Amino acid sequence: MHALVTGGAGFIGSHLCEALLARGDRVTALDDLSTGSLENVSGAQDDDNFQLVVGSILDETLVDKLVERADVVYHLAAAVGVSLIVEHPLESMRTNIKGTEIVFDMAGRYRKKTLVTSTSEIYGKNAEGPLKEEDDRILGSPLKSRWSYSTAKALDEILAYIYFKEKRLPTVIVRLFNTIGPRQTGHYGMVVPRFVGQALAGEPITVYGTGAQSRCFLCVHDAVEAMIGLMETPAAEGAVVNIGSSSEITIEALAQRVIEIVGSDSPIEHIPYDQAYEEGFEDMERRVPDCTRARRLVGFEPKYALDEIIKMILESLQGR
Ligand code: UDP
Repeated sequence: MHALVTGGAGFIGSHLCEALLARGDRVTALDDLSTGSLENVSGAQDDDNFQLVVGSILDETLVDKLVERADVVYHLAAAVGVSLIVEHPLESMRTNIKGTEIVFDMAGRYRKKTLVTSTSEIYGKNAEGPLKEEDDRILGSPLKSRWSYSTAKALDEILAYIYFKEKRLPTVIVRLFNTIGPRQTGHYGMVVPRFVGQALAGEPITVYGTGAQSRCFLCVHDAVEAMIGLMETPAAEGAVVNIGSSSEITIEALAQRVIEIVGSDSPIEHIPYDQAYEEGFEDMERRVPDCTRARRLVGFEPKYALDEIIKMILESLQGR
């Protein structure tokens, strides 16, 4: 099997490439190295079955050529991270809307099965829990970066679904909830690598808002295994599938876990949202996935506990 992984040098993409290579697949990673890095694929580069193409999903000619050559497409390339989206909204929208349209155009042209990664941002402010795939989206104004991102990813889902329905192209939509692990950087806002980096440096741990908001953190290895399983499951075609951990923790408690595991004496500092992101920024209070569908389709069951993942991130930041 020859897989094209867009965003293959990114945090999740690079782990996906390694997992595919480990099974003996051939992998071409397409990445513009905007948030991905050569370092992320340095291990994969040792494998003769791996090729990195540095380029953009906005380059139609390139995407055309790469999709034609592949057997299946994992479309992960996207502008990700709340901070990045707030700071570079135009570029983020172009990548997430136009880029995905180009990938599906080519997948449709060459009839290549495509899995697209979406996000729990789809549910917006719906703080019910656990969230099922059919649950309502509750969004604020599209003029707020967070909700425009949610809307762009919803368009990606719509496109994947329409290609399935109208063109009979096999597509799979994976809605990833908070996914963490080695190689994720805190630069674009992701809370766990940020906290671990701050704790390591002895800097204050920046908890935004009250810290009472909660999240469920899944290890990237569990996410990747589920994605590969879903790609290979015919019953997942045309479906949208939540992937995430069901173990919930408040951000305040997360800060304390990180301080304890790192053995740091960093203080916790509370920062108002307006200061952390932008005026009028709205956070989600809670985001818990219902993964019944993933369990039914691929027997999804996370293997890594939060403490274990924090330790992995710590080791990776220490360069071990
Ligand atoms: N967060 C925080 N401090 C930081 C970065 C993030 O308290 O330095 C909070 C953020 O406001 C949110 C949670 O941690 O409530 C998860 O943030 P992340 O950006 O990792 O994921 P998402 O908001 O997309 O769930």
